[in-house]
Amino acid sequence: MVGTQVPNDKKLTPDIKIIIRLWPFLWAKHDKEIKFRFSIAFLMLFLSKAATLLVPIFFKESVDFLSPRHGSIVVVPVFMVIAYGVARLLATGFGEIRDGVFATVSQKAVRRIGLNVFDHLHKLGLRYHLDRQTGGLSRAIERGTKGIENLFQFLTFNIAPTMIEILMVGGVLWYMYDYHVAVITLVTMVAYIAFTLIVTEWRIQFVRTMNATDNEATTKAVDSLLNYETVKYFNNEQHESVRFDKALQLYQTAAIKNRISLAFLNAGQSVIISVGLVISMLYAGFGVQNHLFTIGDFVAINAYMIQLYIPLFTLGFAYREIKIALVNISQMFELLDVPCEVRDKPDAPDLLFTKGEIIFENVDFFYNPNRPILKQVSFTVPAGKTVAIVGSSGAGKSTISRLLFRFYDTTGGRILIDGQDIRDVTQESLRKLIGIVPQDTVLFNDTIEYNIAYGSPDSSTEEIIAAATSAQIHHFVETLPEGYTTRVGERGLKLSGGEKQRVAIARTLLKKPHIFLFDEATSALDTRTEKQIQDSLKKISKNHTTLIIAHRLSTIIDADQIIVLDNGEIVEKGTHRGLLAHNGVYRAMWLRQQHQAEIQEADILPLSNSDDPTPRE
Ligand code: ATP
Repeated sequence: MVGTQVPNDKKLTPDIKIIIRLWPFLWAKHDKEIKFRFSIAFLMLFLSKAATLLVPIFFKESVDFLSPRHGSIVVVPVFMVIAYGVARLLATGFGEIRDGVFATVSQKAVRRIGLNVFDHLHKLGLRYHLDRQTGGLSRAIERGTKGIENLFQFLTFNIAPTMIEILMVGGVLWYMYDYHVAVITLVTMVAYIAFTLIVTEWRIQFVRTMNATDNEATTKAVDSLLNYETVKYFNNEQHESVRFDKALQLYQTAAIKNRISLAFLNAGQSVIISVGLVISMLYAGFGVQNHLFTIGDFVAINAYMIQLYIPLFTLGFAYREIKIALVNISQMFELLDVPCEVRDKPDAPDLLFTKGEIIFENVDFFYNPNRPILKQVSFTVPAGKTVAIVGSSGAGKSTISRLLFRFYDTTGGRILIDGQDIRDVTQESLRKLIGIVPQDTVLFNDTIEYNIAYGSPDSSTEEIIAAATSAQIHHFVETLPEGYTTRVGERGLKLSGGEKQRVAIARTLLKKPHIFLFDEATSALDTRTEKQIQDSLKKISKNHTTLIIAHRLSTIIDADQIIVLDNGEIVEKGTHRGLLAHNGVYRAMWLRQQHQAEIQEADILPLSNSDDPTPRE
């Protein structure tokens, strides 16, 4: 899906504001090299235009030398012809030097802005990232940075030089001939520019639709491919294909309209140029007939006009590209303007870790005001102790871990670590303290070693192997032909759920946090491996404050305290024994799970005896 792209956004920042906002990225106040390059580039621009102006003059002189004047003998004006050639060469040469010198300036600006947007996206809250559509977002960034390149390219070295050239040529024509020639040239230029601007404005709507439909199609394709397995589960290839084709069809219609409107623009430009050229040549022709001009003058006027029309042809294109670039940049800047939901307070201090006590104090939370998720949740995880949170699916357990990690701020109440409200300290210091093994582990599309080392990128190989051993993954990795350098595939999908979870545990161990947060960290493992990992987790998290979210109650019976959450509220609290003694939710859950375990065992036993020849009733 190629073609020029304009985001479909009606509320756009005015062009001039975008350019003002871009300027600091381009000029880079403290970068002396940039200033030097700017000066050289503009000097080259001026020299190249001066050389361009000389070309028709040498051409005219050559022609006049060759025309029989007053019966004199024609001589070949070797000097003039060589000067003509040199002027042409210099015009192009200076132009090329200018582009080369300026490339560093524009590329540095592109890099600075790209990095700014990337950093900003990482600062935005989880809510933003859950709402966004990755396909559309990456297209917006891609188009934005490309837009900056185009803008610099066209604005600085196409529009500006062409305008300068038009004015200089107007002046030269006026000086060398009379104002008629200058006026014809300037009027043609003005008509051409006005027509181009008006038609281009009108055309933008087609490009905008093209862009919106392109976004739509790309998002659909990316989403569909990300869900590759689900598509197969339901045999829905045909359905996906039809959905994608619908999006492509809309793009196709918009692209055709765009192409037809472009043809109209090009045709109109050609008409204006041809009329201007004919009038000026007729004027010059009559001038020659009346002995006001020489043949050389006739040729030079023609050469000036043609010379101007060449950049003018690209002026139309450049204007379109600039317009499009500005819209794309504006959309990228809008990403920069998305406010960060969770922010450090000005001059927030780092969290001062002393013992690792966590307190949830009357915590309320909702993702959406119409649906409260946590209601007046209060509990304490004493320093060095283990607290488990259990409850039905959707009760709000993982939400508690997200709040502790400050992916969201509470909507009521507060969370304290060692007596400090986590909203008053820096997010970096808070997150450094906590090691999370999340419910759904997503890995980077890199090697196992890279993914484990992510917990602490400076770790040595020995440290990585030690963490992998504690997480019970080392032996598995050793059985792989490529060992630690095995690539795990997109989002880690080449590993099984249990293997991914163990890699996630290893990388959290490597982080060496003070507080552990296990959100169903071993749910994807079989009972035996789970038991082994539980043992090593227990060893590692000994004397560390630990919050465990668990479904399988058998994994948390040793916790110092168990909190039972139901529909966002704490309904029971106590130790495993204490809660069992009490005839409540926990006891009911425990009995249910025990019963299920018994049924499973009973199911498995007859299967394992399936070779038994005794006929069954
Ligand atoms: P499970 O045991 O199934 O993982 P949980 O107790 O961990 O469940 P949470 O993930 O905390 O449940 O979710 C609590 C509720 O909040 C659920 O009903 C869920 O649909 C809702 N929820 C979770 N994340 C969001 C979100 N980003 N936006 C809106 N609602 C959300």
